[in-house]
Amino acid sequence: MKCYQCNNEVPAGYPQCPFCGAPQQQMGGQGINVNVYQAAPNYPPKSRMTYILLALFLGGLGIHNFYAGYSGKGIAQLLISCLTCGFGAIAVFIWVIIEMCTVDKDANGVPMT
Ligand SMILES: [Zn+2]
Repeated sequence: MKCYQCNNEVPAGYPQCPFCGAPQQQMGGQGINVNVYQAAPNYPPKSRMTYILLALFLGGLGIHNFYAGYSGKGIAQLLISCLTCGFGAIAVFIWVIIEMCTVDKDANGVPMT
């Protein structure tokens, strides 16, 4: 393997060029794909239809967010609706409609099907 910077021969397994210190890309070695790796979820994908139906009928209470695992957002929507005696639910419902259109993954990044 040749250093891309100084073109000297770099022994395999060296993370850096011993001549100029440039970091070397290890073909097929560990380290490159670590950040791409995503652990498989240990539950089946959530249903986007269920998410949308919950949002439509119970969205003001944030139930769809609890379903998808976004419990922080769910609690916020629940509190806004309850603490304003329902007046805030109008604002929450606009928020919910935006979520219905834009959210297609659960809180762990697993796409809803
Ligand atoms: Zn070099």
